Amino acid sequence: MPRSGPLVDQFGRVHDDLRLSVTDRCNLRCVYCIPDEDMEFAPREELLSFAELERLARIARSLGVNSVRLTGGEPLVRKGIVDFVGALSSLGFADLSMTTNGTTLASHAPALVANGLVRVNISCDSLRPERFRAIRRRGELDEVLRAMDVAEQAGLAPIKVNVVLLAGVNDDEILDFAAFGRETGRIVRFIEYMPLDAAGHWQRGEVVPGRSVIDKITSRWPLATDPGAQDDPAPAQRYRYLDGKGEIGVISSVTEPFCGTCNRLRLTADGAIRNCLFSDDEHVVRDALRSGGGDEEIAMIFRSAVWGKLPGHGINDPGFLRPRRSMSMIGG
Ligand code: SAM
Repeated sequence: MPRSGPLVDQFGRVHDDLRLSVTDRCNLRCVYCIPDEDMEFAPREELLSFAELERLARIARSLGVNSVRLTGGEPLVRKGIVDFVGALSSLGFADLSMTTNGTTLASHAPALVANGLVRVNISCDSLRPERFRAIRRRGELDEVLRAMDVAEQAGLAPIKVNVVLLAGVNDDEILDFAAFGRETGRIVRFIEYMPLDAAGHWQRGEVVPGRSVIDKITSRWPLATDPGAQDDPAPAQRYRYLDGKGEIGVISSVTEPFCGTCNRLRLTADGAIRNCLFSDDEHVVRDALRSGGGDEEIAMIFRSAVWGKLPGHGINDPGFLRPRRSMSMIGG
């Protein structure tokens, strides 16, 4: 394993994109993410403080990480998040973004922009109020649509809209979402349902393959692969409308894994580095942080986490075991 230079895995893939989960708490109970009954959260003292997160981000920056996305749980439920964005922004990342469910984004957006947030991904799984409520089990569609408007006015760009498709639940809205993206200029990203729900209910039959999404949309509004996206390590396969009305993304983690170009690492809210959403291989940094570990020691934990990454996530292998932690605990 190299002791200097960027973060590379055994296959030479450079990892420069960090997902930072700032909390495992969420103010929603989405059916594909959080169980119906009460979820157990980590005791507060187990979560990293903002000072600890900032130190880790600074070390990651020194190791070549240039993109940070704040996530959770729901990042905007963590008190002090706006100031934390300011602290991260001063570390000089080329890209600083957040994934949020949008429920409280409208009130936070101007301050987030003032503190250096560049863009947001907003989760929204239905454009029909009743269904939206049924999927999230809390909250209103209107508040999320309003958050998108406010975020845009505040200068967050581009606005990406994350849609997790569930067969028989919201896959009849593919064209509605496409139309919504074409009208608003927002980039809708269709995400395959992954075996990361806390309730363990995931069934392969509920996955709506990304390919079928593309076929459906292109039969109405022809799409072409975005030529600019060829070398893009982002998980979304990007497509542009031939009539110039914007783009969409499809994240086919289950049916067309993109592990070969994955450049992500994740830090859980309780201080474990994960090199893959689907692997239980965790490299704990919290102990080193809290026992006086130096920056070099922590940097080596980042290095070994990345070095140990497997060539693929193995969801489609017969022996695949679901990871112990769910999406909301890992930080999606
Ligand atoms: N609370 C924020 C939100 O709702 O966007 C950030 C955390 S959430 C875990 C991040 C993303 O993961 C969201 O877009 C959510 O829809 C997605 N997600 C959660 N569970 C999923 C699953 N089982 N399969 C696919 N995507 C999932």
